[in-house]
Amino acid sequence: MYIFNKTRLKLTAWYLLIIMLISISFSVVIYKGLESEVERFARIHRMRIERQVLLMPPPLSPADLDLIKESKQRIILILAVINGVIFVISGALGYVLAGKTLKPIQEMVDEQNRFISDASHELRTPLTSLKTAMEVNLRDKNLTLLNAKKLISESVNEVDKLQLFSEELLQLSQYQTPNGTIPFEVISVTEAIKKAVHKMLPVAKQKQIEIKEKVGEYEIKGSAFGITDVFVILLDNAIKYSPRESTITVETRKTGNSVFISVTDEGMGIEAKDLPHIFDRFYRADYARSRTGTGGYGLGLSIAKKIVDAHHGSIHVESKRNTGSVFTVSLPLISFS
Ligand code: ADP
Repeated sequence: MYIFNKTRLKLTAWYLLIIMLISISFSVVIYKGLESEVERFARIHRMRIERQVLLMPPPLSPADLDLIKESKQRIILILAVINGVIFVISGALGYVLAGKTLKPIQEMVDEQNRFISDASHELRTPLTSLKTAMEVNLRDKNLTLLNAKKLISESVNEVDKLQLFSEELLQLSQYQTPNGTIPFEVISVTEAIKKAVHKMLPVAKQKQIEIKEKVGEYEIKGSAFGITDVFVILLDNAIKYSPRESTITVETRKTGNSVFISVTDEGMGIEAKDLPHIFDRFYRADYARSRTGTGGYGLGLSIAKKIVDAHHGSIHVESKRNTGSVFTVSLPLISFS
């Protein structure tokens, strides 16, 4: 906070310096111009008198000289007042402008700080429980080989999850910057969906879940990797939160200049109170937290939303507890106009 106030004042000072330099230079030019005008006026005035009286030009009287001096002083005073007013107005405007310039940077830093504190909070819990389990077993003098193997296998599972978490964090940071850092090109949405389905089929098979595809051919401008990631996340969730032997359907339809892709599952659904938060980072509904084995870190949907936002699209969910969920992604199609 302190650094921003200091920078804001520094920026204001720079704005002021530039404006005042311009204003004072103009004032000097104006003063020089007016000074020569006053002297020219005095000369002409003298010549007129000379012509009228047909005499040699009288020298300027002390009263005339005083008048010229007074005029010059008045010009200086007026210019000083104008510069003073410019100083005050540009100081205030500069301060407001500096604040506006710094606002997005301040918001970005705040967001990053929140992100770091959330991420370290999420990391602390599994690391502590991993450490505690190891310490307890190390202290156990009667630890059998079987129990030691069990502990190692549980620890490997935990480490796998942490590895996935770090990958997700990386993925999220990739899309964190405005407009993302990934180059956009013309891509086939259909291919991206098919790739995602292909990747998730083995996971679905483990639960005997069928994935039905009703997908048309559509092209958009975007990142093929990014769009595939979105559907991997949605399918992964659909599988995680669905019972065995259920069906997941991926469907596309075109409305206006957008393609709508929906992923429908027959899973446990989402409670109304959770719906507004599921796209937030690290948010998991209570049932998702309490179920062992489903354990993500609540990053999937926030990554999906970041990617869709970067493609100028939107993502929505409709869900009913114990009936199923429909996640719909809409993406703008390439317009040929
Ligand atoms: P997670 O890694 O926990 O799955 P996500 O960000 O992908 O994190 O999802 C956030 C939460 O939204 C999940 O914890 C879960 O509560 C809920 N959720 C997401 N997809 C589904 C779904 N298809 N069915 C039911 N709940 C879901």
